[in-house]
Amino acid sequence: MRPITLDPLFKSIRTLDGVGPKNATLMEKLLGGEKIIDLLRHKPIDCIHRGYIKPLSSINREGIATTKVTITSHSPSRRRAAPYRIMAKDGDQPMDIVYFNAPGQWLKDTYPIGKDIIISGKIEFYNDKIQMLHPDYALPPERKNEIKEYESIYPMTGGLSPKMLHKVIDHALPVLPSLPEWIDETMIKKYQWSSWKECMTALHHPQSSKETLNDHPVRTRLAYDEALSRQLAMQLVRAKFKKKKGIAFDGFDDLRAKLLAALPFDLTGAQQRTLSEIDTDMASPHRMLRLLQGDVGSGKTVVALATMLNVIGNGYQAAMMAPTEILARQHAETLQPLCDAIGVTLTILTGRDKGKDRQAILDTIENGKAQIIIGTHALFQDSVAFHKLGCVVIDEQHRFGVHQRLSLTDKGTAPDVLVMTATPIPRTLTLSLFGDMDVSRLDEKPPGRKPIDTVLISNDRLADIAEGLKRKIAEGERIYWVCPLVEESEKMNLANAEDRHTLLSQIYGDRVGLVHGRMKPLDKDAVMQKFAGGDLDILVATTVIEVGVNVPEATVMIIEHAERFGLAQLHQLRGRVGRGSDKSSCILLYNAPLSETGKERLKVMRDTEDGFVIAEKDLELRGAGEILGTRQSGLPATYFISYDDHRDLMQMAHQDARLITEKDPELTSRRGDALKTLLYLFEQDEAVRTLGSG
Ligand code: ADP
Ligand code: MG
Repeated sequence: MRPITLDPLFKSIRTLDGVGPKNATLMEKLLGGEKIIDLLRHKPIDCIHRGYIKPLSSINREGIATTKVTITSHSPSRRRAAPYRIMAKDGDQPMDIVYFNAPGQWLKDTYPIGKDIIISGKIEFYNDKIQMLHPDYALPPERKNEIKEYESIYPMTGGLSPKMLHKVIDHALPVLPSLPEWIDETMIKKYQWSSWKECMTALHHPQSSKETLNDHPVRTRLAYDEALSRQLAMQLVRAKFKKKKGIAFDGFDDLRAKLLAALPFDLTGAQQRTLSEIDTDMASPHRMLRLLQGDVGSGKTVVALATMLNVIGNGYQAAMMAPTEILARQHAETLQPLCDAIGVTLTILTGRDKGKDRQAILDTIENGKAQIIIGTHALFQDSVAFHKLGCVVIDEQHRFGVHQRLSLTDKGTAPDVLVMTATPIPRTLTLSLFGDMDVSRLDEKPPGRKPIDTVLISNDRLADIAEGLKRKIAEGERIYWVCPLVEESEKMNLANAEDRHTLLSQIYGDRVGLVHGRMKPLDKDAVMQKFAGGDLDILVATTVIEVGVNVPEATVMIIEHAERFGLAQLHQLRGRVGRGSDKSSCILLYNAPLSETGKERLKVMRDTEDGFVIAEKDLELRGAGEILGTRQSGLPATYFISYDDHRDLMQMAHQDARLITEKDPELTSRRGDALKTLLYLFEQDEAVRTLGSG
């Protein structure tokens, strides 16, 4: 149970004074959450100093300032586009307040002649005169306190006013409870960190731009809190996972030999090395928790099958969890012929199976007739009972919720777990994303693959490219056409993709299909199937095809505005082609002129197909923040952690969490208790639940 001290933070922002439904909706959009803690985690990106200037004649430079003036006269604009000037003075020092297109009556009310007014905004020298254009504040002296000397600048969303956001945050700050300290005392001293509450308050009231930088103690403390909560959560889940005694499997040779005989190729060196790492894990009495990283096409499926055969040879069942139904079915199709050849039964269970059919499948899973079971996460959430589950292969593709997923594998038994990901992750980031998992890398492509010819072409030539596809299509090739994803706007995504679909349809008629993120899964599925079946020559898509069907006949990948994509993403998209026997190509369209970095990035794409090299380069050129911070990456977004600036902190948090889980695995000490609060604070409830549950 979450400590009640935290309750106020988990209430809706709608409970705060002055938050109406309209602003609440805007704020929820901005924050990506609806709780007060979400609001308080919204951090300023900069800070303005509204220094008070007295007398006005002492001013010596342009910039943001606050001052008191007396209004002397108004000079309304004579023409529409001309400015409305309000003449003011402080002693003998005159100044002008200037507006364009402001309602005259409002100006008269706000700036009454003969009255004193406090104004705050950017002071400029214009023709040797002091002036302020559209002041941010214009208030009678008795309301002076509404102008803060230091003002935070927050990321905003259209329709919400900064003043509104400030007001609401000020209403929320008093809600902050005092919490017990969860960071080790020596560390607090070393880094001169204040308490969590003080830092949260200071976060919203920076006194200089410096304080809004990632290396300021307020930010490092909060980043450390977050890093510690994540690392601790990961390690608690892992510790619980490892606590259950695993099964010592042995005698892998029999089915393995049959598999090798059934394969039309030899295993690559990387596959052999990976399998021996897996065999060692599985032969040991501890549970396996291994991450298998390998590019699309690096041959993970065979490794997964061999892993599953290990347990089947020992009389156990194996399950494989795919992120989508399409992928589950694809895995089943790939594995079925091999399973037939080896003499192992394979079953697939998806949401499509209903009624009697479903029950029949469930029966074979329960009585053990089904040896390999493939499905989505529903396999573990539904009331599926396994006969004797020995291992689970989790195909993550490009998602990263592994630790949440692990709890699913805990169905009374203690199966070994192999997690597969097609996203090559730079070594320096593996730790913060996957914690202490053991890692194998398939860093060698199966032989005989034809390289994909990648070219960079300016967007200006888009129409030519569209025309030029005729030749390819005449030769029976199929084409992916990817439109860029606009992070902020689903509407724009759709508009872009629809425009392109229209353009291509004018040339190629009804042989052009369209898939986008707003379609219902079944409709998406139907279009993809048409493309796979050859009823469409061109598939226009937003990035939904990332985790898509396998179409070996597709040989051309065109990506618009390639400069907007992350390299890892371009790499994944490109991996959609080059799967058949024909030579494939990839056209990266870019908007000229490219920045130096932009050029370098696209050149990396042109020059290499090695996902690990691309991942490292991407990290080097863009920084982790950009790689990981976007929705496109599917990686966890952070509140305070900067993957670029806080890597040392993350490393420290990792060590710290390890010490904690060794010394106080159930978090029963006083610090342990405080750490539980920390976990709840960062909504790691799942991890707290592992405590005391054996
Ligand atoms: P991944 O799952 O890593 O994307 P797959 O397992 O689907 O890759 O393998 C891609 C293709 O390469 C498949 O057609 C597979 O049969 C083939 N393949 C896998 N291993 C080898 C190998 N050692 N030699 C030749 N081809 C291989
Ligand atoms: Mg695969």
